[in-house]
Amino acid sequence: MAYKFVDNYREKGARKQLVETLRKRGIADEAVLSAVGKVPRHFFFDETFWTQAYKDIAFPIGDGQTISQPYTVAYQTELLHIRRGDKVLEIGTGSGYQTCILLELGAEVFTIERQTNLYNRTIKVLPYMGYQAHFFLGDGSKGLPQYAPYHKIIVTAGAPFVPEIMLKQLAIGGILVIPVGDAKTQKMVTVIRTGEQDFEKIELDTFRFVPLVGDQAW
Ligand code: SAM
Repeated sequence: MAYKFVDNYREKGARKQLVETLRKRGIADEAVLSAVGKVPRHFFFDETFWTQAYKDIAFPIGDGQTISQPYTVAYQTELLHIRRGDKVLEIGTGSGYQTCILLELGAEVFTIERQTNLYNRTIKVLPYMGYQAHFFLGDGSKGLPQYAPYHKIIVTAGAPFVPEIMLKQLAIGGILVIPVGDAKTQKMVTVIRTGEQDFEKIELDTFRFVPLVGDQAW
């Protein structure tokens, strides 16, 4: 496959500015900011739209889906408190941009996408960029039980509720970050597994995600 990936001073400069924008918006975790500064987000865009790649906006990636807004990616990642070597399940691979951010932080990433076209693209583009993850095609609303437990689980699509089955796949001390709400807006929810049967749930800011579609979802 012929990809044309160029990362020159224009893109590097724009990326630095994006990091400063996120810092001003309240992202304080330097490791997360540094990861945003490293991942070439324009590689996920057609070259015609490279000027859009470092704006703090979501953008269509085909099949009715979007690459998440950088602020949203940084916000969710910050909540995960990734430590090097963490086993992370990402539900909704989409473009693969969030996957790269997690990999830059030293996580081992298991990522699942339900749309074949997006899955087929990411399994080629990420390795081409030098990023290695475990890719899966299927319904992630049920998690990915065969590789559980995970230190962290991130859901990058809006869910109607927190799927019980996902909670069971968290390690003790593990964190789930999931947007929960209706079709229009969702609250960012974190659930920490504090014991075998104990979970602590916190509701945070409001976002707008594409829907999580599946057995334990819409
Ligand atoms: N983090 C991604 C990125 O940076 O590009 C954004 C992903 S997009 C906002 C949400 C993704 O979740 C879409 O690609 C969608 O197809 C996927 N999705 C929705 N329901 C899903 C499910 N049940 N299992 C797996 N993926 C799902």
